[in-house]
This record gives sequence, structure tokens and C-alpha cells, in this order.
Amino acid sequence: MMLSAVYSEHFDPYQACIPGEPAKLFPGVTRVVAPNPGVMTGPGTNSYIIGSDELVVVDPGPELAEHVHLLADIGEGRISKIAVTHKHLDHAPAAALLARLTGAETAGFTRSPGFEPDRLLANGDILSVQGAELQAIYTPGHSSDHLCYMLVGENLLFTGDHLMQGSTVVVAPLDGDMAKYMDSLRLLLEITPPARALLPGHGMWMDDPARIVSSVIEHRQMREEVVWEALCRLSKTPQATRLSLDKDGDQGGRLSRRPDESGDQDKSTDGDRQHHPHRGLQVVPGSERESIDDDRRQGISIDDMITTVYRDVPESLHSIARYSLWAHLRKMTQEGRVCAADMNGMSTLWWPAGLSC
Ligand SMILES: [Zn+2]
Repeated sequence: MMLSAVYSEHFDPYQACIPGEPAKLFPGVTRVVAPNPGVMTGPGTNSYIIGSDELVVVDPGPELAEHVHLLADIGEGRISKIAVTHKHLDHAPAAALLARLTGAETAGFTRSPGFEPDRLLANGDILSVQGAELQAIYTPGHSSDHLCYMLVGENLLFTGDHLMQGSTVVVAPLDGDMAKYMDSLRLLLEITPPARALLPGHGMWMDDPARIVSSVIEHRQMREEVVWEALCRLSKTPQATRLSLDKDGDQGGRLSRRPDESGDQDKSTDGDRQHHPHRGLQVVPGSERESIDDDRRQGISIDDMITTVYRDVPESLHSIARYSLWAHLRKMTQEGRVCAADMNGMSTLWWPAGLSC
């Protein structure tokens, strides 16, 4: 029997997220916001209690005793399953505490420090309680172990941090992966039957999933083009020009890397030692950099690019946005569009591949 057929009580999907105030969003679906608001968590982490006579909790949240006790109190002894979307500290750690209080079975994609689920779920697996079934959908990208959960029959999709309301998901390498994130977004557009609403790990209920998912994909693609344009432009900008903007910087001995001197390419072809005194790294006096042709592009760092790429984002968030920029650059490197000395190092240098810009 579908949950919506069981309940007659009042509910409102569009209630605001207020920590500590349980909100009945839908028949058999109650949201409880944990008291952990912040830049990364918005109003706080959403825990969802799903079912009627028997309950499953999605994302019990951070290890905050008052939040976990509130979940247990609302459950009134009926919580038998705990499903976690991913291992991050604002979603998973309370699973162990809530399991101790309730005796519930915990489930997630994989075991990791601080979260050791009783049951491991693969894509398509069903987690059942009496009257409700959740289907796991593997959606790596934000983290390597991320699952969304579809409430079967009602077609409500619990998205964890794959999609948030009111803020942009951060994809932080190396566990986060932008190429996988994009693939996991496209996957949601192919699910049948499609979701009727998204219930995120942070923020409010969202209608029209197809429109939302498509707009997030478009936004990421737009950002990738901004990254590409910035990389092309900055890599052709004489270093002296860039450094002159950096009034306090050490302009004397900054190292730049020629595109053909990556750690991955031409390692053995360094015939001109005089020109390459640092085996691949080259000190570039400003006076020599009056004009830069395609053959003499310079490697650009994430710090060089961040203010250009995220000029529409408050500067206070740039320290976080650097991770998503890194993730975009890694994706473009995997696709052969961009080169890097070491794409797994955040402080490496990047440049356009070939003569494509
Ligand atoms: Zn989160």
C-alpha cells in the first residue's frame, strides 16, 4: 500500500527548514533539520523519517545527541532501518548512535571511517520496511560512495548532497569527481518512472526534478566553459602582466611551466639545458614575455584562475570554490582538453592541450 493512502493528516511540502522543528512534508514523510547550519550545510542537514507502522530514517546526520534523540522520540520505537546517502560528517555519523538507541539496521554504499553500515547497498537494491520501499540509486560525484534513494510508488527522490536546494554542491577531489558527478546527474533524467519531487540533504522540497537537474547540468557546463576561457586567456597573458596586478607578490623568481614541459610529456627531450635550468620548470623574466604565442603558453594555477572563474560568487566562498575548480580541471584533463603536471595535486599548473584555443 502506498504511504499516501495510509495518511489523512495535514502535511505541507513547502515548509521552511527550521532546525529541531519536525515538518510533515508528505504522507509518511517527516523532515527533521539538524542544528548544524553553516556555509556548507545551509539551514542544517535534513534527516527524513519515512513510513507508518515501521520507519526508515534517511541520513540521521551529524553526531549531535539532541538531534538523534529527537529522531528516536519521533520514531516511538518504530525505526527499524537507517539509510545513509554518503559518508560525510554531516550525514553519516549519527547512524551508529541512532542504531544503538533503536536497534535499527544501518545501510549505505560502503564502509568508511566513522560509518560502518550493517548492510551494503548496490545500485538498484531495495531497502524495505512495512509499507515503504526505498530503492538505492548509485550517484557518485559529490563523493565516491553517494546514493540517492527513491521512495517506490510515491516517486520521491531523496538526493542527499547530489542535489541541494539553495546552494551549489561542492565537488572536492580526489574523492569527489566532476565527470562522475555530471554522469550521475544525467542518470537522474533517465530514471523511470521519473521522480515527482526532490528531497535534498540540505534545503527545501523541490518540484519539477527534470527542470532542476537540467539546469544544474547546464550551470556546470557553463562553468566549464568559463574555466576553459580563463585558462586560454591567462595562459597567453604575459606573466609580467599578470604579476604586475599582484602588487605584494614576489615577482622575481616565480616559476612557470611551458606547455610542452609537463611532468607527463617529453620527459626525456630536454636537450636545451640552458633554456630549461630546472628540468621542466623555467624562470621567466618579465622582459622576455612581451608576446606569447601558442608555443609559449604558461601553466596557470588554480589560485591564478579563481577570481576570474568565480567572479559571480562572493569572495568569501572562493576558498571552497577552489575545490570545484580543481574538479572541473581534472575532468577536462581526463577528456584530453587540458594538460596538467599532476592533476591529482591541487597546487599544480594547468594549460590548454594542443593549439585548441
Ligand atoms: Zn551535506
